[in-house]
Amino acid sequence: MTPRRVLVTGGNRGIGEAIARRLKEDGHTVVVTSRSGDPVDGIDAVACEITDSDSVDAAFVEAKERLGGDVEVLVANAGITKDTLLMRMTDDEFASVVDTNLHGTFRCVRRAATPMVKARFGRVVLISSVVGLYGSPGQANYAASKAGLVGLARSMTRELGARGITANVVAPGFIETDMTAELPDKTKAEYQAAIPARRYGGAAEVAAAVSFLASDDAAYISGAVIPVDGGLGMGH
Ligand code: NDP
Repeated sequence: MTPRRVLVTGGNRGIGEAIARRLKEDGHTVVVTSRSGDPVDGIDAVACEITDSDSVDAAFVEAKERLGGDVEVLVANAGITKDTLLMRMTDDEFASVVDTNLHGTFRCVRRAATPMVKARFGRVVLISSVVGLYGSPGQANYAASKAGLVGLARSMTRELGARGITANVVAPGFIETDMTAELPDKTKAEYQAAIPARRYGGAAEVAAAVSFLASDDAAYISGAVIPVDGGLGMGH
């Protein structure tokens, strides 16, 4: 295992924190971002607002200092939901979710790409969602933003694949975090009944897939969408 310099966005809680902890356990040097920049128990953190390009740039500058070199592995995990039915969805509810989940991820991968091209090495993992390709009532904004990440990773793969850079998508299903804690009990029960594994996933199960994609063994995998969803999306 080659130790790498890793940045995980939104790594202060939930799935991002589990990814950061797993990659640290794997032997990598890890920095996370959060909007506050407050330290996370045992993990170095920098402030980053992914809807602001200047903040993203400043976070990468700070991360480089903490990591002792440029980011080699970027896990773009930060994301939000603003669920409501399509006909009631405001322009702001649509735009703000796309601005965070898709445009925000673009801001991070664009900033990460130049040093990766210079180093002729890079691993980019984008955290999408099963609903990006499966669809979900009440989540037109979220599903559209998460589907967009697949096009982003595949375009990166075609553009930068010859420079030793891979870009893959991990598509979690329903994972127990603050984000899913907000769902009404009825919705949770309906989703659980639809999942072939009949249970929600744990953040550590998503982290295991990211750990593999960041490892030396995954050097020839790029443009892939890896589901971690208990079979819900059936590989989509
Ligand atoms: P949480 O709501 O627990 O955490 C979200 C993270 O994103 C936080 O660290 C938050 O930072 C950060 N964040 C949100 N908006 C911004 C922003 N504008 N700028 C910078 N950071 C931001 O979410 P989860 O851990 O559940 O989800 C993590 C990722 O996994 C998301 O992309 C989500 O869409 C995806 N996902 C989650 C699933 C689930 O079932 N939980 C299923 C499928 C995908 P802060 O603490 O500062 O607010």
